[in-house]
Amino acid sequence: MATDEQGDAGRRVGSYRGGEPGPLLLCIASLHGNEPGGGTALERVLGELSASRLPMRGDLVGLRGNLRALGAGRRYIDEDLNRIWQRDRVEAVLASLRQGETAGGGAARDGDELPMVGSAELLEQRDLLAAIRDESRRARGPVYALDLHTTSSDSAPFTTVGDTLQNRELALRLPVPVILGLEEQVEGAMLQYFDRLGWRSIGFEAGRHEAPSSVEAHEDAVWILLDALGLLEAGSTPGSAERRGRLARHAEGLPRVLDVRYRHAVSEEDGFRMHSGFTNFDRIEAGEELGADRAGPVRAVRAGRILLPLYQRQGDDGFFIVRRLAPAWLVVSRFLRLMGADRLAIWLPGVRAHPERSDAIVVARRARNRTVIGLLHLLGFKARSEGGGGVMVRRLEGPGREPETDLHG
Ligand SMILES: [Zn+2]
Repeated sequence: MATDEQGDAGRRVGSYRGGEPGPLLLCIASLHGNEPGGGTALERVLGELSASRLPMRGDLVGLRGNLRALGAGRRYIDEDLNRIWQRDRVEAVLASLRQGETAGGGAARDGDELPMVGSAELLEQRDLLAAIRDESRRARGPVYALDLHTTSSDSAPFTTVGDTLQNRELALRLPVPVILGLEEQVEGAMLQYFDRLGWRSIGFEAGRHEAPSSVEAHEDAVWILLDALGLLEAGSTPGSAERRGRLARHAEGLPRVLDVRYRHAVSEEDGFRMHSGFTNFDRIEAGEELGADRAGPVRAVRAGRILLPLYQRQGDDGFFIVRRLAPAWLVVSRFLRLMGADRLAIWLPGVRAHPERSDAIVVARRARNRTVIGLLHLLGFKARSEGGGGVMVRRLEGPGREPETDLHG
């Protein structure tokens, strides 16, 4: 076993490598610079592991995302580091990394040769990608990625996933609500890139940015996953039952699985202000006034529960509305996906095959209603964040599906 510490809020929080090969649990903290809690939690877990010298199968690695924004205590400097993982952009960044390396002596330090210039986050993304790539090269088993976040309002901890069967399975190992469909609403999130790599990955939202309980919840989540994924021998970690109980208590009374039904997008010009007093998972009625912008009051378009109300200056999501999903939905959709029932999608009214892509379908405008989209979600399709226009893409899962891309090209 070996550990290494970089400290001083560097890119690498540290690592703990097992004596035997096994899965890599790759934890990424502070993709948003105003969310330092994940890094603190990883420091503590890694510190405890090296102090107790617990035997491990596989590797735990902690990285930090946006160092420049972390230093400034802001969500981001020029652009949101969790919105720039689009296919073309990642490819360009990886190509520039390779170029820098063949030109001799490690990665180049500036982004001059890249098509996108002048953004602090571009440099962060490049460094982070290089670190992620190095870790995946070193991996001695399957990669599991955990993306650690906190929120601007009070909140019970919860997870967010791209809704593949393998991501769901990973998320359900933590005793907190799982949110499906958030990634369909935002474009260029890092987890979408991990999905394209075929990795299992989840986002974990631990609570309010400044709350000490958020650091604790991050720690609990990492320990529980180390246990659940078999990196640590079950029951070998001191206090594992307490950790599970503590995390579960935060989420008491909340639904196990919810999906996103609405996103209130905002821009700086809107002057959107959320009314004070909302916390994650608060129930809201249709028509309830939630905030105001230059045009007047902003009301809930439907009933449900509020998620991620915006109480910080930066950000382009005003709030989301989520609804409970019946547990049967998960069972049915798992069955249908394993049966390959996605082939039947083109028989739904208003749905036809995509003219070029075998993994995609096109949904006519008249058919884009709750029922049809709901059925397509059930079958494993998601709206394509790049392109739009009613195109939905089959997620990477099920028998015989290869990752769309790889890191080492
Ligand atoms: Zn965040």
